[in-house]
Amino acid sequence: MPDRIYNFSPGPATLPYEVLIQAAKDIVNFKDRGIGLIEMSHRSKEFIQVVDECEALLRELLSIPQNYKVLFLQGGASTQFAMVPMNLLGPGKTACYLNTGTWAKKAIKEAKLFGTVDVAYTSENTNFDRVPLPAEYTIQTEAEYLYFVSNNTIFGTQFHSMPETDKVMVCDMSSDILSRPIDVSRFGLIFAGAQKNMGPAGCTVVIIREDLLDRTPENIPTMFRYRTHADKGSMFNTPPCFAIYVIGLVLQWLKKIGGLNAMAKMNKAKAALLYQAIDSSSFYRGHAQEESRSLMNITFNLPTQELEAKFIREATAQSLDGLKGHRSVGGCRASIYNAFPYEGVEKLVNFMEEFARDNG
Ligand code: PMP
Repeated sequence: MPDRIYNFSPGPATLPYEVLIQAAKDIVNFKDRGIGLIEMSHRSKEFIQVVDECEALLRELLSIPQNYKVLFLQGGASTQFAMVPMNLLGPGKTACYLNTGTWAKKAIKEAKLFGTVDVAYTSENTNFDRVPLPAEYTIQTEAEYLYFVSNNTIFGTQFHSMPETDKVMVCDMSSDILSRPIDVSRFGLIFAGAQKNMGPAGCTVVIIREDLLDRTPENIPTMFRYRTHADKGSMFNTPPCFAIYVIGLVLQWLKKIGGLNAMAKMNKAKAALLYQAIDSSSFYRGHAQEESRSLMNITFNLPTQELEAKFIREATAQSLDGLKGHRSVGGCRASIYNAFPYEGVEKLVNFMEEFARDNG
């Protein structure tokens, strides 16, 4: 392996090295067939097999029940902010949203274009440093669905147990899908942009319970109807071929390392090491409240902005890249998704100790 930096970017994010090598080879010459993967017709036998295998692996790893469709769409997770209410809401109808950060807020804004939004919880007054417990919000009886973001990429908070409700649950899992086992049958719809835990940017995975495909109002355009893509196996139009293919490779890697239980264990170990470094020092201060801490995006501040800038500069010089926090929190953010190696976290923790000693 050549010298690789440790990439703490929140997404697009680090991918398994073996996946990159395989993808690089197949871009030029797919399975030695004399044609590059990204030149092949999406209707070719070879590519249909790529999609089928990708879907089968995703179903296996997440134990997706038979009565759910898996869609590979474009437009990013952000398009889902609108597609969800376009399909599941409508004039005179209400949906319940939990406002736990930037991505939830953007989804709320879009939903308001299509119906009534009841924001049942917000942690905005403490700069989104936590997610709610079930007792902290009430879902109106007429709500069509409950919408929440399982992991808040920017603020570094995560739901460690999913909400309890008999309503249809819709979840943006963009930044923690496949990081731990989940019970898909408890959700009506799950969506996630690929570019953190699944593969390259350009594909959004949607997992939708079949009965929800029939709720879409008549006036929704063809491309924005889940039914369109469900009926055609994500082949209504040209799908994001390359991204789907790389997702398939990442899923093979995930299966090989032991699936979601093994992955969850590794993710816990990585995050524990980093939180332990934050907690054992008075120099670093975590942003998220302890019970809400994300295992994927770890946000922390230093005593001053000057020290934060210096920290990021010196870390970058030591191949610890992408640690600058989002401007709404400031400070630092270490994104340690599935493919981020444990050794990279160890190196960061050593650097943090050194930096605190020299500058504290
Ligand atoms: N939801 C979450 C939780 C995210 O982290 C992001 C991107 N960082 C998005 C949605 C938006 O994704 P996209 O850029 O694919 O539209």
